[in-house]
Amino acid sequence: MRKKHFYFIVVFLILIAVIAILGTVPNKYFEIAGGGAGDVNYSLSGSDVSASDVGIPPNDSSTESESAEPTSSANDTKKTTKPTKAPKGKLAYLTFDDGPSENTFAILDILDEYNIKATFFVIGKEKMGKQYKEIVKRGHAIALHTYSHSYKKIYKSEAAFYKDLEKIRTLVKKETGVDTKIFRFPGGSSNTISKKYSKGLMKKLIASSAKKGYIYHDWNVDSGDGGATNLKKEKLLSNIKRDCKGRDVIDVLMHDSGKTKQTTVEALRDIIDYLKSEGYKFLPIDEGSEPVRHKLRK
Ligand SMILES: [Zn+2]
Repeated sequence: MRKKHFYFIVVFLILIAVIAILGTVPNKYFEIAGGGAGDVNYSLSGSDVSASDVGIPPNDSSTESESAEPTSSANDTKKTTKPTKAPKGKLAYLTFDDGPSENTFAILDILDEYNIKATFFVIGKEKMGKQYKEIVKRGHAIALHTYSHSYKKIYKSEAAFYKDLEKIRTLVKKETGVDTKIFRFPGGSSNTISKKYSKGLMKKLIASSAKKGYIYHDWNVDSGDGGATNLKKEKLLSNIKRDCKGRDVIDVLMHDSGKTKQTTVEALRDIIDYLKSEGYKFLPIDEGSEPVRHKLRK
């Protein structure tokens, strides 16, 4: 009997020791693997509100500016496939359109400071091979925005659009090795400028692009830098604050287009600081990203 008691006490002491050791091991070793921000699947539904909701004027002007287009809203119905460890939500896709430009390196340096990855929707700039390469080298997403960005040219017909889109796809592939089918329509999918050149074209392009395996992304937060030359940096930030309200997943429209968008570079740290303070995490767009999309406007 004594022996039995002795063994019992030994086992009991070992158990206590094990429990004590486990208690001191950092919790992370017991967390379920995976479940980083990249594993979250967000789904946006009803992602449309008319332009008047954000005070953006009607846009039948022929200016080649994305800000002439409406900002759509998202109701942010959010789904997570891994509810255990997925962050409770706030996700920001920073997007830079119309580059590369003489601002590309400055933008990349700021993103590096914060260790943030963004998405560059690029156009055809034959002499900026270095910039295309650097975007990819530093871990950002490179995506397509047509080669010419000329509304007159690209929105003439479906064939004209794809010819131009394929041209930038080929250039990006040549310069970076990345063959992407992610793109953004110049002016957004809700643009009404295209109807000047071909009525009903956007509807056709939306359908045919999906058939061809292309994925388009619009935006739901507009810095406003597309509509004006060097908008004050305070204004860029306040536009972003306005559009972020109530949204967990944001796709922020900014421009990488040289001297006329210099204030975008100047405002970028403030923009990132603000979004961080609001709890957003930053990701580049990839093929698994749920696209923010506008409502088609006739
Ligand atoms: Zn653009």
